[in-house]
Amino acid sequence: MAKYSVVDKGECIACGSCGSSAPEIFEYDGEGLAENIFEGDGNQGVKAIPEDLEEYLAEAAESCPTECIKVADTPFN
Ligand code: SF4
Repeated sequence: MAKYSVVDKGECIACGSCGSSAPEIFEYDGEGLAENIFEGDGNQGVKAIPEDLEEYLAEAAESCPTECIKVADTPFN
C-alpha cells in the first residue's frame, strides 16, 4: 500500500538525516528544514509514495530525532 508523508517543519531541527535515508523523498529548504518533495508534493502529503520507497521512508521517519516526519496510509488533505 502506498504511503503519504509530511514534515512538521515547526519541529524539524534541520539535522539532515532524512535526506540521507530517503533522498528521493526529502530535501531541505533555504533554512535547512526538511520537506517532502516527492513528485512535487510540496510537503502537502498528497503524492503517493510507492512501496519500493517505503523502506527508506520508514527509515527516515524512525531515525528523525524529533519524530516530525508524519506517515499515513491516506493523503493528508
Ligand atoms: S530527520 Fe527530522 S529533524 Fe532531521 S532534517 Fe529530517 S525532518 Fe528535520
